[in-house]
Amino acid sequence: SSEEKLGREADEDISKKIMDAIDPKEIEDTLRILSKKPHIAGRQGDFDLVKYIQTRFRDHGLEVSTTPYDALLSYPNDQVANSVRILDADGEIVYDSVRDESDVSHLEDVVPPFNAYAPARKVEGQLVYVNYGRVEDYDWLRSSCINVTGHIVLAKLGQIFRGDIVDIAADNGAVGVVTFPDPADYAGVRYGDNRFAPEAWWMPPDGVQRGTVFTGFSDPLTPGYPANNLAYRYPEDKADLPLPQIPSQPISYGAAFELLRQMTGRVAPNTWQGGLNLTYRLGPGFNDTRLKLELNVTNKNERAKVENVFGIIRGEIEPDRYVLVGNHRDAWIYGALDPSSGTVVMMEIARVMGQMVKKGTWRPRRSIMFCSWGAEEYGLIGSAEWVEQYVAVLRERAVGYLNIDIALRGNDTVRVLATPLMYNIAYEASQKVRNPNPAEIQAGRATVYDTWQHVTAGSSDGKPRIGGLGSGSDYAPLLQKAGITALDIGYTYDTKKYQLPSYPLYHTEYETFDIVKNQYDKGFEFHAALSRFMGEMARNLADSLILPFNLDGYSEGLKLIKRKLDASDYGVKLKVMLDNYGKLDEVIAGFETDINDFRNRLEKIDKNNPYAVREMNDQILLLEKAFLISEGLPTRPSKKHILFAENSNDVYAESTFPGLVDLLFKIDSAPAREQRWERVKRHFSAILHTIQTAGATLRDVS
Ligand code: GLU
Ligand code: CA
Ligand code: ZN
Ligand code: ZN
Repeated sequence: SSEEKLGREADEDISKKIMDAIDPKEIEDTLRILSKKPHIAGRQGDFDLVKYIQTRFRDHGLEVSTTPYDALLSYPNDQVANSVRILDADGEIVYDSVRDESDVSHLEDVVPPFNAYAPARKVEGQLVYVNYGRVEDYDWLRSSCINVTGHIVLAKLGQIFRGDIVDIAADNGAVGVVTFPDPADYAGVRYGDNRFAPEAWWMPPDGVQRGTVFTGFSDPLTPGYPANNLAYRYPEDKADLPLPQIPSQPISYGAAFELLRQMTGRVAPNTWQGGLNLTYRLGPGFNDTRLKLELNVTNKNERAKVENVFGIIRGEIEPDRYVLVGNHRDAWIYGALDPSSGTVVMMEIARVMGQMVKKGTWRPRRSIMFCSWGAEEYGLIGSAEWVEQYVAVLRERAVGYLNIDIALRGNDTVRVLATPLMYNIAYEASQKVRNPNPAEIQAGRATVYDTWQHVTAGSSDGKPRIGGLGSGSDYAPLLQKAGITALDIGYTYDTKKYQLPSYPLYHTEYETFDIVKNQYDKGFEFHAALSRFMGEMARNLADSLILPFNLDGYSEGLKLIKRKLDASDYGVKLKVMLDNYGKLDEVIAGFETDINDFRNRLEKIDKNNPYAVREMNDQILLLEKAFLISEGLPTRPSKKHILFAENSNDVYAESTFPGLVDLLFKIDSAPAREQRWERVKRHFSAILHTIQTAGATLRDVS
């Protein structure tokens, strides 16, 4: 009867059916198609994939829709190439880095190396080597009386987001930035391997990492509102658009060798030396004092079509509750790793679930939405615009967001980033997935969970490690603007063996289908394992009678980030400056009580009473949203989550209690120190209030 249906518990058998239907061969075939041609955002290759994904979703019986936006993107100028050159006193070219990525066949749509949104400008100057271009690198330079004002800086990639390298350089007075992937971080030499792509997964001497240097997210011309046909757009020449202020260009380590080889000045400290066979010097300038560096950036900003594609399985009982599974579609070039290795995972889950619904084997309790995001590489534009468009709906109805971007950074273990409510879901699902690595099974680790635990468990509870969500992929706008509980998964390399900032070929022309097949996943079993892992999490979220979030995870998570704060320099300062610092422990303890009371109540409800079930589920669903504050973080009003955001000096890293961290950063040398402390105090009260209110949302209402 329909009443039984309303109270039905999830059928665990479905879980196995989904897992069994995941097919590595399908995954391989789909990846071959997706990575055949370059598919940069806003160009034909991407439009073709929009059509392809729509067709595939339709074939699997999903309801298909798209949301088109018109957003500001950026491309190199095909008339005048970007260049990094050494010039002599007469302006003659002594060295030109133009040979970058010359080994790979140049198809028409292969975008030459560039940084998206780097402004078009030609600058000349002395070169200064700034290590990784972090705040602390400039602090060290300053303490050594080296000033970068008016100079061009040369920075190694990989410790912080490249856009932050540019912003920090501009803050320090530099007029231009040149970045490169140092072989110590991206090549195999220090691991005794001299091979590189296409023979190995290492970066070749001519490889270049493209990428955006925009540090905001969403379309730069329409902040806060969707870039659709109703939008007001700031003029492109508006002076204070949040775009990078100085030109920048990525080069290869082969090219960086030619620059560093000629540099003068003091020898850089030991810890700043890299993997090139020369002594890294700080500059400014070259040995031959008549030489100077010329950086010529000719990029053009251009409005283009950015489209998201959705494939929807309508839920049987609660169609107005959405479980989101997403991946971006656009790539810098072939994108066989970033993002298409993730696209095939999402599409395989969509295929398997779609077919089951079509055959009548199953229909989930809640709706499942597969989301193919556009223009992620430019600054999470497709997903962020969608959140701007539908934030009111999403805050009420979205259950959770499962993201997969680069499916394989390696094939050692899974790597999971998540908000606390998702922890248990990830642990449970990974325990059900057979280990794709036969050697691990031999060693007695039969499941994905076992290897994950073996490699990462270090903390007291013996559970595998789950990291925090900074930014860097599409989960950021969903979590930070709409408060949707989120998670991101992928396989990664052995991080104890390899100290790498990312997989070496990241954002280069060498990310091809053959690299994936030959260097990462011959039989596509790792891709299949991820599809099972993610498919099982989606099933659990969509089908469980009671939403499977572990609420204790949130109180544990809060205690953990409070302990981290206590142990930090900021915590020490706060304790001295704030009379009410101790109140934070009190409100966290109160929150824990609310969680415990809720759990006790949950155990006793009548599961055959659909109102009681829905009432509890709504309280669970809205918990994450209770941590959003409408005014946003003190220095970043568009970021609303009071506990989690990306780090202001490195978009890729997470910061917890981000509003406090922003305000306390270098507070002792801040010009208006007193006022800054007043803002800290006000924000601290907002945190106390928000945690208390979040707990209150869980209280008994009957
Ligand atoms: N994933 C892209 C990158 O790493 C975009 C990141 C962002 O804009 O936050 O370059
Ligand atoms: Ca917008
Ligand atoms: Zn990506
Ligand atoms: Zn990327």
